[in-house]
Amino acid sequence: MNKATEIVKILKETYPDACCSLDFKNAYELLIATILSAQCTDERVNIVTKELFQKYKTPEDFANATLEEMEEAVKSTGFYRNKAKNIIAAAQVILAKFHGEVPQTMEELLTLPGVGRKTANLVLGDVYNIPGIVVDTHVKRISKKLGLTKNDDPEKIEYDLMKVIPKENWTDWNHLLVFHGRAVCNAKKPECMICPINHLCDAYNGG
Ligand code: SF4
Repeated sequence: MNKATEIVKILKETYPDACCSLDFKNAYELLIATILSAQCTDERVNIVTKELFQKYKTPEDFANATLEEMEEAVKSTGFYRNKAKNIIAAAQVILAKFHGEVPQTMEELLTLPGVGRKTANLVLGDVYNIPGIVVDTHVKRISKKLGLTKNDDPEKIEYDLMKVIPKENWTDWNHLLVFHGRAVCNAKKPECMICPINHLCDAYNGG
């Protein structure tokens, strides 16, 4: 078993409930929640989307919203001007080009305003069951500590991880590291002594 596979196995045993911590009922809701999650906690996003998804239920609702009302609705997630603009524009593109459905390929998802590889991989993995590695702040930090990548660029990290992590675990990788980052491998104060994967971690073993 290679190192990454062993790490996945231990983390799955440690965090059997690891899953996406954003609340959503369909691809479109996850897309919007992920746009809102940039520089914001999932907890805060879930509070905002609870009301947002009651008021705006379809891509048409979002596409027809005014910028001012959308800014007000997402204000507390930070960077709200850009987020509001992207949410409305993404809805308009989804209606104009994709018959109101969130597309199911990386290439098409990347044509939506405000959608990068991180958001696209999250939607592909968590809604459409198409494996993808989401590189967020937890994945970037912990994958480097473990010695699975030396890169800083998210796209390069994604490709490094794709080489060592079994494809069936690509979507789980993000959820597992988010849970591990919150429970043990805290950015400021990692609890390495009690970490179940410390024997596999380059940072802990002086690598
Ligand atoms: S050993 Fe320490 S740095 Fe390495 S993954 Fe565990 S908590 Fe993080």
